[in-house]
Amino acid sequence: SKVPPIILNNGVEMPQLGFGVWQVPDDEAETAVATALEAGYRSIDTAAAYGNEEGTGKAVARSGIAREDLFVTTKLWNSDHGYESTLRAFDTSLSKLGLDYVDLYLIHWPTPQRDLYVDTYKAFEKLHADGRIRAIGVSNFLPEHLERLISETSVVPAVNQIELHPHLQQQAAREYHAEQGVTTEAWSPLGQGKGLLEVPAIVAIARKHGRTPAQIVLRWHIQLGNVVIPKSVTPSRIKENIDVFGFSLDAEDLAAISALNEDRRLGAHPAEFN
Ligand code: NAD
Repeated sequence: SKVPPIILNNGVEMPQLGFGVWQVPDDEAETAVATALEAGYRSIDTAAAYGNEEGTGKAVARSGIAREDLFVTTKLWNSDHGYESTLRAFDTSLSKLGLDYVDLYLIHWPTPQRDLYVDTYKAFEKLHADGRIRAIGVSNFLPEHLERLISETSVVPAVNQIELHPHLQQQAAREYHAEQGVTTEAWSPLGQGKGLLEVPAIVAIARKHGRTPAQIVLRWHIQLGNVVIPKSVTPSRIKENIDVFGFSLDAEDLAAISALNEDRRLGAHPAEFN
């Protein structure tokens, strides 16, 4: 694959760029994932809540790519928090995917009001010890949630997948993750393709490099050290989004993008979402 790996805190290699499938209907996921695999993606990010684990699994099965060359992530939904319900939800996800292990399993949201993420994570530790998950992690955890998890369990999460793009740069979270050995994975890395790709500073950098705004934003993530999982169902964009390893942003470009931070979320706030 043309995508370099990030080495997670347990030695597992994760491609630095993967394919996200949120909002892709199950019956379109097979085609979209197949297109991504043909374009060279080897990492796929799905979730029980996306309702497309089956379509994703079909594309994986039909690809003919050796299982060990793929990196499949799925996530546990909020209503399945708790030790026993996590074990059951994991079995359901695995059977929908048609796999006998996943590479990365994430707690989708901390849902602190439920106060069950520690028990949930203990079930993750058991599934990991049983060899059914290669790396375990979390998503949408604030530093305070991670701190509690790390103090009350044994396996430091390999990954925290959080909303992160030039309008929400998450510097404090990235620094905390780096101190703890947790890899930062960016969701909505393109800011959901909304205003971000028309921001004049980004359009100007794209012109300077003969690249698209999406490629500039993805390249910024790569140089920051983030794992990224852009989503598209358009074949030309799927190809464009993985083609970000043949050029580099310079210090001036990086400074111009740093200046775009507005601490502006597109998604829910992790302390409130339930
Ligand atoms: P994204 O930032 O990847 O943006 C996707 C949208 O941007 C596309 O629908 C399209 O409109 C546009 N786009 C994509 N490529 C483009 C290109 N080359 N040129 C122009 N426009 C382009 O948004 P996302 O889907 O929200 O996030 C990516 C992935 O992150 C999701 O699919 C999912 O896997 C994950 N995610 C996780 C969580 C979580 O809570 N853990 C939340 C949201 C998303």
